[in-house]
Amino acid sequence: MVSAKAKVLFISISMKLFDTKFLSQPKRLFWFYVMMNLIPSICLVFTEPFTFTGKLVLLMFPLGLYLILLSLLKNTGRLQLFLFPLFILHAFQLVLFYLFGEAVIAVDMFLNVATTNVSEAGELLDNIWPAIIAVCVLYLPTTVIACITCRRKIYLPASFRKKTIVAGIVLLAVSYGLTFVARNKNTERFTLHEDVYPANVVYNLGFAINKWHNSRLYPVTSQDFKFHAGKSAFAPSREVYVLVVGEASRAENWQLYGYTRPTNPQLSQEAGLIWFEDAITQSNTTHKSVPLILSAASAEDYSVIYTHKSILSAFKEAGFTSVFLSNQIPNRSFTDFYADEADFHRNIRTADEGGLITTNTFDDAMLPLLQHYIDSIPGNLFIVLHTYGSHFNYKERYPESFSVFQPDNATSVKTENKEQLINAYDNSVLYTDDFLHRVIGVLNDAQATSALFYTSDHGEDLLDDARKRFLHASPNPTFYQLKIPVFMWFSDNYRTIFPDKVQYALNNRTKPVATNAAFHTMLDAAFIQSPYLQTDLSLVSPDFKVARRMYLNDHDKPVFFYKAGLKKEDKEMIDKRGMNH
Ligand SMILES: [Zn+2]
Repeated sequence: MVSAKAKVLFISISMKLFDTKFLSQPKRLFWFYVMMNLIPSICLVFTEPFTFTGKLVLLMFPLGLYLILLSLLKNTGRLQLFLFPLFILHAFQLVLFYLFGEAVIAVDMFLNVATTNVSEAGELLDNIWPAIIAVCVLYLPTTVIACITCRRKIYLPASFRKKTIVAGIVLLAVSYGLTFVARNKNTERFTLHEDVYPANVVYNLGFAINKWHNSRLYPVTSQDFKFHAGKSAFAPSREVYVLVVGEASRAENWQLYGYTRPTNPQLSQEAGLIWFEDAITQSNTTHKSVPLILSAASAEDYSVIYTHKSILSAFKEAGFTSVFLSNQIPNRSFTDFYADEADFHRNIRTADEGGLITTNTFDDAMLPLLQHYIDSIPGNLFIVLHTYGSHFNYKERYPESFSVFQPDNATSVKTENKEQLINAYDNSVLYTDDFLHRVIGVLNDAQATSALFYTSDHGEDLLDDARKRFLHASPNPTFYQLKIPVFMWFSDNYRTIFPDKVQYALNNRTKPVATNAAFHTMLDAAFIQSPYLQTDLSLVSPDFKVARRMYLNDHDKPVFFYKAGLKKEDKEMIDKRGMNH
């Protein structure tokens, strides 16, 4: 939709560039700049879940704003150049439309930009170039026109500017009044700073900067934190607990969760494995979801993330040696701080000196390190494995020997490549299955008392329905991004010594669970007591309580996952899979 519009606009802009009259007519130039700024707002009218009044505000407010801003100087060209940062926002916004077909630039979008790296971004950029070209076609010629008319001193008449400023003020006042009757059908409310572009994007940018600043202070704000953790029971043999964090792996493509393809040939045969049928993530972005998994913070209680330490410190306080192995490039988020809490921290995804370009490493490169730490460190161990799982580009996530579902050679996301993309994705799940089987093999060989907890950080869209959504971290989650595989595995020793815990896990396996269970389940499985342990969130406890599952929204507030902006296609799948809601 965007590229078709862009073509029409490009032709009209090119024609006008050669029309010298246009470049010397200040009023026509003024309206031209206003229109170019309004393009994202016009798109939003078609996508946002607002009432008619809400959509009216969506146009009136920015129109009023641009009328005033572009009338502040008589040299409109110069003003449009001052407003160039707005063009950057518009461009970013239009690219998001291309990606997700809805919503404004979220706080998470800004933070994703700050927490990704050139390699990851490059993989994505390959697929959004039509949108990039479209925004260049829209905004570069406009900027050139602004430069030319600025230099030529094309001035707006003072009387015209007075009228447009008055009109702008009236539009702003009326649209503010209308916010009291307008409504966002998702949130049941309506405010300028949350719902109306570009005010909401500026607000989101401020929110993101503030959040980034607070997370930078984390080493200071959390330095005195203590879990007051200790062991309440010991196994006669050595104890080894492993938490594996998956990446972009969705339950829909796991054989264990009913997928028709044999993507879990190993795990489906594994003794001592209990998977949780109805599990969801509390966030669809890596930089938020992984810290929720690795700490006592949850969607319901997110703010503690700034003051609490992570699960690695809880295990350390209880006498464990902790190891953090990662196949993800450090992303300057809480996950990095948590990794530093570990006694041993190794990252196998090597990067260049600036940390920007990474070389591709398969997850199984962590296995020799896992073996090494288990062999070389005596006593109780707690190990986190942060995998790269099924992160796009899927084809890059597994060696050739796992290229089972064929053809799998497409890298660009297009509807005609859907079959290849799904094949590649399924191969990455097949590889994850093998990787997890081999982790369990290492634990079996160690003959320790062991439990393993696996959870994906979020799911993934794979051009599933008419919406043609792909990837994750969209402003509103989808069924495919929410529903994730979660399982536990217990070693023979563990099952013999602590049969009750295993039985409780079995009792809870059909109950609705979310990623906020990971921290508490892991502590409880290892018999670690702490005032911060909530047994009502532990999957190995008789106290586990079925509760309304929450999703962490873009402004870090908990919302019922079923009302987190899901569409009818998502709700149909939720019903089809019999998910609790
Ligand atoms: Zn992720």
